[in-house]
Amino acid sequence: MTVAFLDLRRRVSALRPSLDAAIASVLEESRFVFGSSVEAFEEAFADYCGARSAVGVASGTDAITIALVAAGVEPGDEVIVPANTCVPTVAGVEAAGAVPILADVELETATLAPDALEAVLTPRTRALVSVHLYGQCAAMDALVVFARRHHLLVVEDAAQAHGAAFDGRRAGSLGDVAAFSFYPTKNLGALGDAGAVVTSDAAIAERARLLRSYGQRDGGESLLHGRNSRLDTLQAAVLLAALPRLDAWNDRRRELAELYRQRLADAPLLLPSEGSCRRHVYHLFVARVDGRDGFRSRLADQGVETLVHYPQPIHRHPAYRVLDRRDGSLAASETLAGDVVSLPLYPELRDEEANLVVSAVERALPSL
Ligand SMILES: *Cc1c(COP(=O)(O)O)cnc(C)c1O
Repeated sequence: MTVAFLDLRRRVSALRPSLDAAIASVLEESRFVFGSSVEAFEEAFADYCGARSAVGVASGTDAITIALVAAGVEPGDEVIVPANTCVPTVAGVEAAGAVPILADVELETATLAPDALEAVLTPRTRALVSVHLYGQCAAMDALVVFARRHHLLVVEDAAQAHGAAFDGRRAGSLGDVAAFSFYPTKNLGALGDAGAVVTSDAAIAERARLLRSYGQRDGGESLLHGRNSRLDTLQAAVLLAALPRLDAWNDRRRELAELYRQRLADAPLLLPSEGSCRRHVYHLFVARVDGRDGFRSRLADQGVETLVHYPQPIHRHPAYRVLDRRDGSLAASETLAGDVVSLPLYPELRDEEANLVVSAVERALPSL
């Protein structure tokens, strides 16, 4: 038996009847842009996040850009982002015309370190992007306190955190504005690209609505310089059909994480941390292990597929070397890139497959 990192065919086959019905309803209506499912999904998703508004857009990267511009970030403004994230976080900031400034993450949670912010603050700093990496919220209490003290906007990159919570409040409701991705592999995924800007600020929501469609309101008059970044009706209908399953999917992710935790408690690898006030939804189960690359190939030999999120911190990508701070202050991000490994974990993974992963991990680790 082999264990794939992810098998979306299982999700599709479980959802197939509701997907077929959702797609049929869009075909019936034949309003493929701004059809009725778009608004219905926006309302349901805002509600799910505990926020007032959601604005559907074309991708998570666009959601970051539109969130920043809608919140008032202007060309040349500096925006703090963690060095341990995926490139789209930074690409989204750049597309807003802003300058990404890298700050380090906490080794334990791999999310933006509140005590790394002071050193990168300048008079041009306008916002920080808190990435809820791997499905766990960043230290939102301390990040928000810092941001308020320095009049910075707080933007959540919640692309991996649908349903995650901090102190009982869900991702999407923890800052000024949040960006979600519904890329197919995310905890809530579409059948293609899709995203949303989520906020309780009516002015930000209104600007995001304009920005995603040429700055125009219904009448076709442009009030802002916008773009085309709309959520297709078809994807909205698919997301609306999937949303009622999200909590059960996240519960199953947590159950599998618990299985890994219990069965690997004594193994020589670092399991992901779970802060007491943070509900982790395990978009990824990321452990840390010495000799990571050899460990991965020994797992591959046993048919267990793993991935690395992420093999390089942002400033080690050729395109982003200029963002390196060159003062050793991104050390935790560099350490993580060297030893993190993501084990297969998705709602449709069967117990026997998870048990097989555990046995393979035990065999792949150096013996004690
Ligand atoms: C997936 C992801 C994005 C980008 O989303 P797209 O929909 O692929 O544009 C941004 N940030 C993080 C943390 C992500 O995981």
